[in-house]
Amino acid sequence: MKKIFFLGECMLELRAIDGTTLNQAFAGDVYNSAVYLKRCFNSINSVIVTALGTDAISQKMRHCFVEEQLGTQLVFAHAEKVPGVYYIETDEHGERSFTYWRNDSAARKVIDFYNPTVIDELASGDMFFFSGISLAVIEPNARAAFWQSIDTLKAAGVKIVFDPNYRARLWQSIEETKQQYALAFQSADITLPGVEDLQVLYAVESVEDVLAHLSNYGINEIVIKNGPESVLTLADGQLDRHTITPVENVVDTTSAGDAFNGVYLGARLSALPVSEAVNKAAKAAAVVIQQPGAITAKTIFNRAMADT
Ligand code: AMP
Repeated sequence: MKKIFFLGECMLELRAIDGTTLNQAFAGDVYNSAVYLKRCFNSINSVIVTALGTDAISQKMRHCFVEEQLGTQLVFAHAEKVPGVYYIETDEHGERSFTYWRNDSAARKVIDFYNPTVIDELASGDMFFFSGISLAVIEPNARAAFWQSIDTLKAAGVKIVFDPNYRARLWQSIEETKQQYALAFQSADITLPGVEDLQVLYAVESVEDVLAHLSNYGINEIVIKNGPESVLTLADGQLDRHTITPVENVVDTTSAGDAFNGVYLGARLSALPVSEAVNKAAKAAAVVIQQPGAITAKTIFNRAMADT
């Protein structure tokens, strides 16, 4: 059974549905990817690596991981911390705004739980995925241990996968981000950047610019997302441009890239060729952006994906 680890943070998502009512869900970029991978490729072991607390919300979140059939052997429980929270509000023009409470979340401590047994388990995987958000969430004093673990996993033959997913407010400075991203690109076997994410950091404007920027790192598989425009891939030296059918009725683009990542990686772990992986991933992203929230209801998602 193929196995992939997703390291990062899952949060409590609160969505205002009218003046007085909040809808509760769980979401976070790597978690979203893990869920969509598992829904499309049930035979792959999709494992979430994170830290929660021991509170009631943490227990519900863990229960949700199990319901989504994710591996939870590396979901740690911090004795004092609790999960992060974000609140989404949509104004009368349909514009969404996000408010976060995540500075002191349990997930920031995940690397503290690493020990030789945990590293052995991670080393037994086929892939290890982390994002720019994962990197920002790991506390700066734990970064050395994190990068050391990446070296160990690489040496063990685990494919390292990185999505830059840049969120300015999670970083102290652009210089700090660039320094960490350089390390990530140097270790990545696969990267799945979005053009928009890298614009601010590297002054890139197009998929071609992103490709040029990444060409120095020796990354074997580069998958560049650009919303409804196109996807550019460079894999094993072969360059391909894939057209995307734009969705007419976009409801909520939250987690489009996450769904794309999860399904793409599931397809690649299943030995599907790059073009097929992109088609499946783009289909999943298109389904997700026609529904509200990061995680589309399972029945709706599975029905929409059944004909692919
Ligand atoms: P993004 O993170 O915005 O680059 O989007 C990730 C993926 O979601 C893209 O590569 C597309 O496959 C899909 N996607 C995003 N926006 C649209 C759209 N308007 N229509 C169809 N697919 C989209």
